[in-house]
Amino acid sequence: MAVAQPTLIQTLGLDDSHLVELEGNLLTAKTATAFCAMQAAALQDGIDLQLVSAYRSFDRQKYIWEDKYKRYTAEGLSPKDAIERILQYSTIPGTSRHHWGTDIDVTDNNAPKQKRVLVSEKFHNNGPFAPLRKWMEKNASKFGFYLVYTSDASRTGFSYEPWHYSYLPEAQHYQKQYDSRTAFAYFKSVGIYGSAHIDVDFWEEYYTLFFKGINVELTTSNL
Ligand SMILES: [Zn+2]
Repeated sequence: MAVAQPTLIQTLGLDDSHLVELEGNLLTAKTATAFCAMQAAALQDGIDLQLVSAYRSFDRQKYIWEDKYKRYTAEGLSPKDAIERILQYSTIPGTSRHHWGTDIDVTDNNAPKQKRVLVSEKFHNNGPFAPLRKWMEKNASKFGFYLVYTSDASRTGFSYEPWHYSYLPEAQHYQKQYDSRTAFAYFKSVGIYGSAHIDVDFWEEYYTLFFKGINVELTTSNL
């Protein structure tokens, strides 16, 4: 069956008209359906799976980026160092998988309340989200969801994120048709704090190390 290819506008998170709302978050319809099925199954096993974040617009990512950039440079970091620090966990606007409506950050509402949820240590050992991680590792792929930023030491790019899952059946289309040069041209045209320090060489290296630095089960060569 032919699947409609997402437009670049959709890829860059400039258009959310194809998305549906679920518990205050936006997702593609198929991602939402698959998530609800996974949520129901998790609940059977005592995990109250909840969305922390799903779709994020270009403007929202721009806000996150600029907020961190302002903070880090105010702390005395050089523009290059500030950008490097942002890139531990946050993407350059226009390159986030959260722009697609196929990627989610999840938590477990049955765990004791936490001030900060998305902390990798909390998903291990006796951490509050260790049961969630174990359940997801065992079951998420049955529903089409795969961890993106794994703890695999050979993976490049963003730090390990045990909470970030991607709905592969739809994310693969966004991933395959992603056009790095067009995204770069758009990024430069918008005018974002720090963008003067990001040239095409930096962008291409970022694209290779970060955008492509994902779980091997999600890489296009395996699709
Ligand atoms: Zn995420």
